[in-house]
Amino acid sequence: MNAQVQPQVLDVERVRADFPLLKRSVHGKPLVYFDNANTSQKPSSVIEAVDRHYREHNANVARAVHLLGEEATAAYEGARSDLARFINAGSANDVVLTSGTTQSINLVAYSYALPRLKEGDSILTTVMEHHANIVPWQIVAARSGATVKAAPIDERGELIVEQFVAMLTPDVKLACVTHVSNVLGTVNPVREIARECRKRGIPLLVDGSQAVPHRAVDVQALGCDFYAVTGHKMLGPTGTGALWARREHLQTMPPFFGGGEMIREVRFDGTTFAEPPHKFEAGTPNIAGFAGLTEAIRYYGRLGADAMHAWEQELLAYANEHLAEIPGLRIFGQAKEKEPVISFLLEGAQATDLATLLDLEGVAVRSGHHCAHPLMQFFGVPATLRASLAFYNTKAEVDAFIAALLKVRKLLL
Ligand code: PMP
Repeated sequence: MNAQVQPQVLDVERVRADFPLLKRSVHGKPLVYFDNANTSQKPSSVIEAVDRHYREHNANVARAVHLLGEEATAAYEGARSDLARFINAGSANDVVLTSGTTQSINLVAYSYALPRLKEGDSILTTVMEHHANIVPWQIVAARSGATVKAAPIDERGELIVEQFVAMLTPDVKLACVTHVSNVLGTVNPVREIARECRKRGIPLLVDGSQAVPHRAVDVQALGCDFYAVTGHKMLGPTGTGALWARREHLQTMPPFFGGGEMIREVRFDGTTFAEPPHKFEAGTPNIAGFAGLTEAIRYYGRLGADAMHAWEQELLAYANEHLAEIPGLRIFGQAKEKEPVISFLLEGAQATDLATLLDLEGVAVRSGHHCAHPLMQFFGVPATLRASLAFYNTKAEVDAFIAALLKVRKLLL
């Protein structure tokens, strides 16, 4: 008989013990933290790594020859290598460390797109993007005479791929798509999109902010040109993130910021720059943050992407099943493949009122436009509530959330 491979099962109670903040109460109620798409909570190992950095290793990177300087540089460069392995980059040198996705995308906008764009060119994005994957393109388009086009989605919140592909006309010089929607949880078929872009010689940027916290990502297998991630949504400290890019792009891109750390030699008759990725990392980075990010990546490694994904999908199905029983509740985003992000509205109630009352019950959800105005316009609503779950959430928390919703519904309606 063949040995059966046992699927790795996530022990949620053990996992929760690693997150000190999950133990706290708010307004006298146990915290139910369902705002993970906004920022994740941090395990003790990440918090301790940041603390340890400042207590034991604090120095600046690259400049010092003393031991502390070497240790700080090793921590910073170690995070680059760990991130490279985490997203399966071919080389750590293809990973530019940034303050987060917003900086990563702006780097591509100013350094890759702006020098190439001219009047009549277009950038293709989608209706479901976060503002971070819209506004930088609008700014460089305005400067260069290019335009930004947005591919449509359907009522289920899925990208209409045929239409996206039909919009990949010769004027399109760059395509920009989110891997996972921060509002709908929709997982976009990035491999297929990348294949179509490559056939036409159009580079593709993928916003991976909401993907890496939920699934194993392999940037080489995806076949895109640029992949942006943010550390604070993947258990890491705020102010950390990265841009992975194909080497050939990084080689041709001029620096975005100028300053220390990114040069080879500075002369008034001509400065020469360091090789990528350092060419794009002027100034002192968030060294302690990256020491923490290394621990976040190790945490995901111990957890296992399959176990995490299986549990999150179980939680999503459980939450959907119970939300469906609440009269007048409308869910935005019913994609076939989605991560545990649930946007919804209750008929007759304002999103902000609901979120405020839920907070008093201990339930943290986000209300608003979620930095996705065009998506709100598509659905014809000013705002939604968003419950975004993580692997450390439980079915008991979903129950508490449903009970709180039913209670505040009675108060409001
Ligand atoms: N893209 C998406 C899909 C996001 O959800 C977010 C964060 N809300 C961002 C970009 C911006 O990330 P950051 O603020 O960390 O740069």
